[in-house]
Amino acid sequence: MAPTLEAPETTSQLVNDGLKRTITKTAPSLIPNGVHALPELDASRLTTTLTSHPRSVPLPDSDEVKAQRTCTDHMVTAQWTLSAGWAAPELKPYGPLSLMPTSSCLHYATECFEGMKLYRGFDGRLRLFRPSLNCRRMLVSSTRIALPSFPPAELEQLIIALCARDGPKWLPKERPGSFLYIRPTMIGNDPALGVQKPKEALLYIIVACFPNMSAGTGPKPGMKLLASQEDMVRAWPGGFGYAKVGANYGPSLLAQGEARAKGYDQILWLFGEDCEVTEAGASNFFVVWRTREGGLQLVTAPLGEKIILDGVTRRSVLELARERLSGRDEELEAVEVVERKFQMHELVEAVEEGRLVEAFAAGTAFFIAPIAAISFRGKDLKIPMAKGDTGAYAGAIKTWLMDIMYGRCQHEWGVVIEEEE
Ligand SMILES: *Cc1c(COP(=O)(O)O)cnc(C)c1O
Repeated sequence: MAPTLEAPETTSQLVNDGLKRTITKTAPSLIPNGVHALPELDASRLTTTLTSHPRSVPLPDSDEVKAQRTCTDHMVTAQWTLSAGWAAPELKPYGPLSLMPTSSCLHYATECFEGMKLYRGFDGRLRLFRPSLNCRRMLVSSTRIALPSFPPAELEQLIIALCARDGPKWLPKERPGSFLYIRPTMIGNDPALGVQKPKEALLYIIVACFPNMSAGTGPKPGMKLLASQEDMVRAWPGGFGYAKVGANYGPSLLAQGEARAKGYDQILWLFGEDCEVTEAGASNFFVVWRTREGGLQLVTAPLGEKIILDGVTRRSVLELARERLSGRDEELEAVEVVERKFQMHELVEAVEEGRLVEAFAAGTAFFIAPIAAISFRGKDLKIPMAKGDTGAYAGAIKTWLMDIMYGRCQHEWGVVIEEEE
């Protein structure tokens, strides 16, 4: 076979070609015409056991919700073994897992996850936002750490089944504009200490109550970022920064804790001697600046070196900006959308020369979070926010996305969940 060409800088792993490249390398059995000897993950085999102890739903933004410990009544689990493939998935009462102390995930970080939300729309309907992209990315992540592959569409159906079951109660119709947080997870649960590919794995999906961090309670108005120090990097070429694997997050908590203690909200992760700007916490990072030639650009780091996460929000921001910010809007000047490497000194110069228009972070948890300040090696950069508590571009993009998520505008990215009675 001819060697696969490297992905161009702007190619997303979540588009078909990128996914196929990943699967060809790591999970050839999913390629059509491959051998399917063992059962695949199959949502149509889902069995259901309902809880006999339904719990009460906490009030939005109550202390219970802020503690981020409460999950809904049910969860979905599916066990995989090397010898028998995927067992029938189960929807069952939420509760503890049983793991042997030797389980692979507890020793070798064979764990990956996704983060997405279930939205209660202003039209009364439940929606997911582009769930197929999260399911594809889960496959990119699981196969990066030697966990089994699966058809992403089956995972999506399992997520939908759990949302249809618990959504109606836990996101009541009387609370439009609210959401739950969905955490699909896969762990190696092979009870064997050998340093090797897990022969057993558990996929599970839980749904948690989650505070609304983009309004009032969270980092507002404007997040403050602390640029990472020389002695700490989040990800590197050839590593796994592009995968949502637990191994990326534990080691970042020290820096994040220090940032919080100093009054900052998140770390702005830099890479390399030239201080390339990559991501902000677990969000992608965007700037809008005016070039010295006078044009406006929306700039974010590229995916090519695989050191940043291919965010669903990032993709959506880029796609909406390309479609709607090309000059059609009468209030907002057109921007050129650019995915390229950029360095901290470019950002500093843009601030110092008055060319920086705004900056924002984008991800499911914090949504579109305007940035008010960045501290970089002792220099405090003040980032403009034209509309007081947000930049004009971040504000417009946030509204467009919310309209899709909460059903104010019907769009193919909003996937409606038919609710169980
Ligand atoms: C999850 C995550 C993001 C955001 O991805 P979304 O799909 O938009 O939620 C960005 N960066 C990192 C490191 C992440 O873990």
